[in-house]
Amino acid sequence: MLIVLIHNDGTGTNEVGNYTYEVRVNHEVLTRGEIRNFCRSHGWRSLLGKVVGKHDWLKHYMTKKEGICSLCGQSGIIHTEAARTEAGTRTGRANFCICPNGQAKRASGLDISDYENYENYEN
Ligand SMILES: [Zn+2]
Repeated sequence: MLIVLIHNDGTGTNEVGNYTYEVRVNHEVLTRGEIRNFCRSHGWRSLLGKVVGKHDWLKHYMTKKEGICSLCGQSGIIHTEAARTEAGTRTGRANFCICPNGQAKRASGLDISDYENYENYEN
């Protein structure tokens, strides 16, 4: 049986919660971690998604040698302003990264549009 335990540690506020989690197969612990400053209004499905997403990031995007985020270089922001469809329609923008730095910036309420910079991507 796969068991995902998420425990509110009681240190949050009415708006944000702090959680520890543990994922087990029966009695074997696969991983443990914590989710800090989770906005409670996003609901339990989002909280569970944070637990899952945290490990997708580690597996796919953390550099093995330096242990840093290969998507944003630890800035927490991913710039895709140059992205376009094959037909030339602009689709890019600034995005909060899926890594802990990006999620901390998102949780702190920063406005992502403040990070957008289209001037460098005009061609
Ligand atoms: Zn990142």
